[in-house]
Amino acid sequence: MRRFLPFFFAIPVFLITAQSTASSLLDFDQGVDVRPVIRQAGEIAVPGGDAVSPETIPANADDTVWISISRNDAGALGDELLKRALVGQNDSISIYELKVSGLDPLAAAMQRRFHMSPGFFTHDSLASALEDLSQPPPAAARAFSIDQGEKVAAMLKLVNEDAVTAIISRLSEYKNRYYRSVTGVASSKWIYDHWKELSAGRSDITVTAFPHSAYPQESVILTVRGTIEPDKVVVVGAHQDSTAGGSDKPAPGADDNASGIAVVNEVIRVVAASGYKPAQTLKFMAFAAEEVGLRGSQEIAAGFKKEGVAVQGMLNLDMTNYKGSAEDIFFISDNTNAPQNAFLGKLVSTYTGYNWAATRCGYGCSDHASWTKNGFAASFPFEAKMGEDNPNIHTAKDTLAQMGGRATHSFKFAKLAVAYIVEMAK
Ligand SMILES: [Zn+2]
Repeated sequence: MRRFLPFFFAIPVFLITAQSTASSLLDFDQGVDVRPVIRQAGEIAVPGGDAVSPETIPANADDTVWISISRNDAGALGDELLKRALVGQNDSISIYELKVSGLDPLAAAMQRRFHMSPGFFTHDSLASALEDLSQPPPAAARAFSIDQGEKVAAMLKLVNEDAVTAIISRLSEYKNRYYRSVTGVASSKWIYDHWKELSAGRSDITVTAFPHSAYPQESVILTVRGTIEPDKVVVVGAHQDSTAGGSDKPAPGADDNASGIAVVNEVIRVVAASGYKPAQTLKFMAFAAEEVGLRGSQEIAAGFKKEGVAVQGMLNLDMTNYKGSAEDIFFISDNTNAPQNAFLGKLVSTYTGYNWAATRCGYGCSDHASWTKNGFAASFPFEAKMGEDNPNIHTAKDTLAQMGGRATHSFKFAKLAVAYIVEMAK
């Protein structure tokens, strides 16, 4: 019988500067400005990992968090510590109180048991966790149409497999992109800088870092302002973090999820190279801290809901370069928007020679779920039938070499994503 690791295990603590006090660095939640420390951490880190070993940025391993998780999944894990941490539930969802240090073992257990990563939402407050016991608001109904053939065809010609390969390769160079490691901060800054470079010379494009108060890795958002209806927003996102269970573990994360970021990056590159200007606003996102409970995407999506942002649709890319099944693209059918899924299937059929099918991934399996639960129409095209996906994720073996050294499969998702933005933001 498989048991998962106890929640209490040591996280190495690394003090960035000798003269700084540990208490002020540890104090993320009480108003201490840790930005200079994080900036400094980004500057001293190099990709590759060996010259400077990635360490945990001192942060809150003992902080309390709350998770929402499928009641069936939690029950099937059969963990005694988890059982004792139960603080609320309904027929289908359970809420548990944990320490931050318990998130990695839980994510690893979910991955082993259900092939899900993470399969739960992490919350900074009990109130936020308890909201997950309520039915999420439905996404607004909308019409989908396909009538931009000429523009899509011209932009699809610019989608370049080598460019996608290069980004997977570059991001895989970091020892890991863990949400609390020095290299996880450095990789976030690399994405920010690279997206700035890609959009240089376009006054309608802005790139912003989205800081999260509870951990040092920042999400990155690139906005292309719509020319006619700028208040309407189409979101394409992927998580940037990688994990093999901690800040000291090698986790190249080539498929999970450099391959998703590389697809988002390629759409941005094609937008810039083609001079395309959308009628509605496009927002491209690199989410922080997905692997420990969809934390980055949750904070952003909840913020958008609160501000009443008119999100027209959201496309999530998470694992795109391992072809494990006969069909090319699998649309996740649970916790996604059925009309938008059908529209995406039509885009595949209309604009590519690929074939597609549907599969389920369970509760909270990736960042689309953050958008769905905040009332937005989200979809998630995936690399394989669930269970036939990449067996190497969350290990040191999740490399580009293990996937043939090329972005052959991701290329298909980049084409789909280009067709999606042009037909959505018109
Ligand atoms: Zn992932």
